[in-house]
Amino acid sequence: SDLKNADLRNLAELGQGNGGSVMKVEHVPSGTVMAKKIVLIDAKPSVRKQILRELQIMHSCKSPYIVSSYGAFLAEPNICICMEFMDKGSFDGIYKKVGAIDIEVVRQVAYSVLEGLMYLYDVHRIIHRDIKPSNILCNSQGEIKLCDFGVSGELINSIAHTFVGTSIYMSPERIQGAEYSVKSDVWSLGISLIELALGRFPFSDASSDDEDNDSDLEGTEDLKKTATNRNSLAVKMGEKTARRHSRRKSKGVSLHGGGMTMSIIELMHQIVKEPAPRLGPEGKFAKEAEEFVDACLLKDPEERKTPRELLAYVWMDQAQKSTFDLKEWTSTF
Ligand code: ATP
Ligand code: MG
Repeated sequence: SDLKNADLRNLAELGQGNGGSVMKVEHVPSGTVMAKKIVLIDAKPSVRKQILRELQIMHSCKSPYIVSSYGAFLAEPNICICMEFMDKGSFDGIYKKVGAIDIEVVRQVAYSVLEGLMYLYDVHRIIHRDIKPSNILCNSQGEIKLCDFGVSGELINSIAHTFVGTSIYMSPERIQGAEYSVKSDVWSLGISLIELALGRFPFSDASSDDEDNDSDLEGTEDLKKTATNRNSLAVKMGEKTARRHSRRKSKGVSLHGGGMTMSIIELMHQIVKEPAPRLGPEGKFAKEAEEFVDACLLKDPEERKTPRELLAYVWMDQAQKSTFDLKEWTSTF
């Protein structure tokens, strides 16, 4: 593609993640507003070229459930990826703004994510690898789309070397070192759906009152060391996060604020050892919703359902037949 930085005018910063930042930009020659993701990568020129080649696959991803791509280019030492601008942002931002999300909206999110996963896997043999509310975007047309999927193995490697690891949405089998599968994405979807419906991250620390809990002595450095084996415990500890943590006097890692303090090691332990979280409290949500989320969060990946199987659930049938007006909903915030 002939996209280049000189043709892009910065309009606003949309957000920062562990791997870089995202800017709202205008492509001046065409007048198109885009989202430009800037990723700092630590890789040789040959690897950078390989990454760019791999990112071309994004260009051929065409689905109503996938954020479309305008192209990618090198702007040393970064790689820039230009994509469709989604004007209502990501679902983490939305629930932090409006609070717990209406279960009917959550159901449409589930449906869109499954359709997106099915498309990526069936058509391109791509596993997303990073399903979470910040990678599920929404626009004022009422469309819900996935972004930041793992198109480029080399990019994943390069970012992993720089920033290490992956996230708190990770499935029990991934924490224990298994390879990614589309079922790992299904687990992450289940966690994300509970998070949206509750308006907070679903794992909590039973001993959170104990400020000086010494059960975890891992500081950031130790976490990084532990996480260098990417196939075993991998902890997403990007620079931004690490800085935030080092400012805290508590030894635990604070997840999503709100006074909840829990180390990432403790969280990983809880995911592996404890029963999976459920959509609740009991009786608050329809049985169909509970049944669906339970099927996403079966701890054994063999038992856990595939996106295709999940689309056959009653709740997804209701999603398909729904007349819920998402466009109208997006006009409320
Ligand atoms: P992490 O780095 O842990 O994956 P993240 O997904 O929040 O976290 P980024 O992918 O860098 O980090 O995205 C930063 C923010 O930019 C997102 O939270 C989202 O709100 C916003 N954003 C990303 N892509 C777009 C887009 N295409 N349109 C509108 N906003 C976007
Ligand atoms: Mg993202």
